[in-house]
Amino acid sequence: MKPSSLRLEELTWLEIRGLLSNGWTNVIIPLGATEQHGPGLPQGVDTWHGLETALRAATKLGKTLVGPAIPIGYSQEHMAFPGSLSLRKETLSLLLEDIAESLAKGGFTFIYFWFGHGGDWAIAQRCLPALRKRWEGCTVTYTEDIGSYIATTWDCYPLQEGISLEISGSHAGEFEASMLAAIRPELLRKDKLEIGDPRPLSEIMDQMMEEGIQSVSKNGVLGDQRFADADRGNRYLDCLADWLVADFKKQLANDE
Ligand SMILES: [Zn+2]
Repeated sequence: MKPSSLRLEELTWLEIRGLLSNGWTNVIIPLGATEQHGPGLPQGVDTWHGLETALRAATKLGKTLVGPAIPIGYSQEHMAFPGSLSLRKETLSLLLEDIAESLAKGGFTFIYFWFGHGGDWAIAQRCLPALRKRWEGCTVTYTEDIGSYIATTWDCYPLQEGISLEISGSHAGEFEASMLAAIRPELLRKDKLEIGDPRPLSEIMDQMMEEGIQSVSKNGVLGDQRFADADRGNRYLDCLADWLVADFKKQLANDE
C-alpha cells in the first residue's frame, strides 16, 4: 500500500484510517518558524527545510507520515526585526501537547518532533518527556540530544564540503541559504545576500537570548549567505534526512 502523499494534510481521513490499519502508525512533525533570516532569505526558511528533511526521511523510513510543518515557534530573540512571529513558551508547550494528543487519539503510535527551528528545543525538552507515555500504546519523542545533533550535522557537513563554520553559520548563513536555494530557489534574494557575525553560537548565545540577535548581528545573519549553493543545499538536506532516519530508528528500537 503506497499513499498518494506522505503529508497528513494532503490525505483524507479514509486514506489515513486505511494506512493506520496497514501499520503506517509513525509520524514526524516538523517544527518551523516565521522569523527574520537576514536580508537575503525569506522568513519561512526553517519551516521549509524542516518539512523537506522530514519528507526525505519518511520516504526512506517507510510506513511513516509527515504532519504539517508548524510555521510559528519560539523566536523571541528575533523580535527586533519586523515580521518575526513568536509564541510564548507556554503557548508552544500547549501546542506540542495538543498536537501529540490529537495524533495519539487518532491511532498513531510513534510521534517524533523534528526541529527545523532550533529555538523550540529548550521548550520541547521541558514539556515532551512528560508526554512520552501519556497515551496508552503511543510514544512521543523528539531529537533529544541536540548537542550531538548539531555537532554531527550543522557543524560537520559544511566542513566536508570545504565550507568553514564561520561561513555556514548557525542562523541564516550559507547552510540555510544553500538549503533554501535547493528547495525554493525563486525566493533567494541573490543581490541581497550578506555576511553576518561569524562567531560560533556558543560564544554569543547568552547575549543573543538576553538582548536579541540584533545585539550581536545588525543584519540578523550568523554566517555568510553569499556562499549559497543549491547543489550543496541538496546534499545538506540528504545528510540531515539521513541523520533523522538514524535517530528515529534508534529511538524506535529502544522503545520496543
Ligand atoms: Zn533558520
